[in-house]
Amino acid sequence: MSKSTATAAPPPSELARVRRVPRRGTYDREVIHAILDDGLVAHVGFSDGGRAIVIPMFYARAGDEVLLHGSSASRLMTLAASGAPLCIAVTAIDGLVLARSAFHHSMNYRSVVVFAAAREIVDPAAKAAALDVFVERLVPGRADEARRANAQELRATRVVAIPLAEASAKIRTGGPIDDAEDLAWPCWAGVIPLTLVAGTPAPDAGIGPDVRIPDTRRRAAARPG
Ligand SMILES: Cc1cc2nc3c(=O)[nH]c(=O)nc-3n(C[C@H](O)[C@H](O)[C@H](O)COP(=O)(O)OP(=O)(O)OC[C@H]3O[C@@H](n4cnc5c(N)ncnc54)[C@H](O)[C@@H]3O)c2cc1C
Repeated sequence: MSKSTATAAPPPSELARVRRVPRRGTYDREVIHAILDDGLVAHVGFSDGGRAIVIPMFYARAGDEVLLHGSSASRLMTLAASGAPLCIAVTAIDGLVLARSAFHHSMNYRSVVVFAAAREIVDPAAKAAALDVFVERLVPGRADEARRANAQELRATRVVAIPLAEASAKIRTGGPIDDAEDLAWPCWAGVIPLTLVAGTPAPDAGIGPDVRIPDTRRRAAARPG
């Protein structure tokens, strides 16, 4: 989906309203979904005993929710399952923006911030289906290739779903925005694009030549622009 197709969806709350450079903000659900579908890591913020904590996590989107999974014993997952307030940030870096002045250096990015309380997915079938979503995020089709979690592994894993009702996206695109008096400054200016690409698969020990290599191009093809 083009980044310019955002509709004028209103902010879902005052907390989620982009105030700083609001023209870069959008609350369009399709844009938010596309940014989430392009990423793999969410930074999950919560409060523990009055301290602000941020923990990076693998996440997956399912419909209008973000799924997190982790050890049933983990502090973060226990707190999330209790319905504590969370804040999640997902960021994609698209380029380094080099301006003529140090002040106007920047980055091109797409980011999402979500405020929510999670609900725990306890039904074993729903939990197993949610875990499939995680494996599919790595390489589409992988859930049917790998051994699925057994009952003991399911018990050891907590899965929570976080609604996207209170979410914002912020997107920067384009080149540097230099001041007019700097345009003749004699240094290079422009954008250095950055992308995340899969390398050559490195087989684990014991993988014979007849075992099919996952097609990581499927993952690339499944990623939105
Ligand atoms: C990769 C990257 C690098 C950045 N580097 C810098 C930097 O070095 N310095 C700097 O000042 N800013 C930087 N920003 C922008 C930064 O994320 C904030 O938007 C900005 O600092 C304003 O913060 P604020 O709390 O004053 O925003 P406000 O506009 O007051 O925030 C209000 C609400 O807007 C939403 N919001 C704010 N920022 C974002 C966002 N990025 N994505 C989605 N929703 C958002 C949230 O819902 C937030 O609660 C960067 C952003 C990205 C993605």
